[in-house]
Amino acid sequence: MQITWNQQVVKKENKTLVLDLIMNSFPISRADAAQKLGLNKGTVSSLVSELIDEKLIFESGPGESSGGRRPVMLLFNQNAGYSIGVDLGVNYIYGVLTDLLGNIILEKNTENPGLSYKDALREVNSLIQELIDSAPSSPYGIIGIGVGAPGIVNKEGDVLLAPNLGWRNVSLKRDLEHAFNLPVIVENEANAGAYGEKKFGVGKDYDNLIYISAGIGIGAGIIINGELYKGINGYSGEVGHMSIDFNGPKCSCGNNGCWELYASEQSLISKAGSFGLENEMTLEKIINLAASEDEDALSMLKETGRHLGLGIINIINAFNPKQIIIGNRLAAAKEWLSWDVKQTINKYTLPFHQTEIDISFSNLALPAAALGVSAFSIENFIKNQLQI
Ligand SMILES: [Zn+2]
Repeated sequence: MQITWNQQVVKKENKTLVLDLIMNSFPISRADAAQKLGLNKGTVSSLVSELIDEKLIFESGPGESSGGRRPVMLLFNQNAGYSIGVDLGVNYIYGVLTDLLGNIILEKNTENPGLSYKDALREVNSLIQELIDSAPSSPYGIIGIGVGAPGIVNKEGDVLLAPNLGWRNVSLKRDLEHAFNLPVIVENEANAGAYGEKKFGVGKDYDNLIYISAGIGIGAGIIINGELYKGINGYSGEVGHMSIDFNGPKCSCGNNGCWELYASEQSLISKAGSFGLENEMTLEKIINLAASEDEDALSMLKETGRHLGLGIINIINAFNPKQIIIGNRLAAAKEWLSWDVKQTINKYTLPFHQTEIDISFSNLALPAAALGVSAFSIENFIKNQLQI
């Protein structure tokens, strides 16, 4: 029987609902799925059969029943394929291989010592290749690659500007697609981090949050009503270039006194000079010094905490979010930043925001940006799979 275009659309929508439900609440029986979705059992059974044939779900032994014959349970096949997520930082490259639920199977880490685009691409390619080579065999293999990049990324996956890497107009998505012949998603790393925190991390409970990626530069990922807000061209969240002092030093973006000149990892490292600490400072060294109660390191971190707080106040006043998550490299210094960030916010935010807002730091064990882009690839794969 020929089915009409309209029926095709309804079928696709229902199939998406069935798969979503199984992904999020397995094990579940056909009958429970039908009841939860308000669809008839025949419809659910036929969609389930298709999903089983496509190896996206499978049947397992009987579940619990209140009596009578025990129903067969349906499970999501999280090992039907594997996804790759790469966090391409200014001074590191970190990649994960995940199953289709975002569980990390393998991770790889390498330094990115301020490489040219060509050299960085070679490093990224070799890291991705290692992850691909280590993936267990599966029906769909590697379903896609997601990359979070520290810069302005357009909808075509070009990095238009990554000031801290000195890159302009590089076609990262196209170059990776060419190298691996797989679907590739390139996203701004703060957007990726926001999504990773919302889906897997400290942002799980909130639908309105702003993730502040505080690394060599500063960017923000904005989640509004549970969805990533990217702006009309995808350029939202460039808060690192929000000026907090018009008379301040010149920034690489052309503006003066940008927030990231005061509150980023780079600014913390530059402060080391004025505090008379040795050259070749790194965040790790500063943290070690702070841990051993070095007064200069403690003062530098205090000042950075205050500066972080000052920028966050503007963001809170503009967006009225439920939660602010401070993530990326500076989250490692939470112990020394947290008090000053919160004090500054309490002191200067409009009073009605103060009792409502949750100020959190990323959990370092969760690589939010890499998991966020990996999740984008998985969603893309599932969407495309259900189109067929
Ligand atoms: Zn700037």
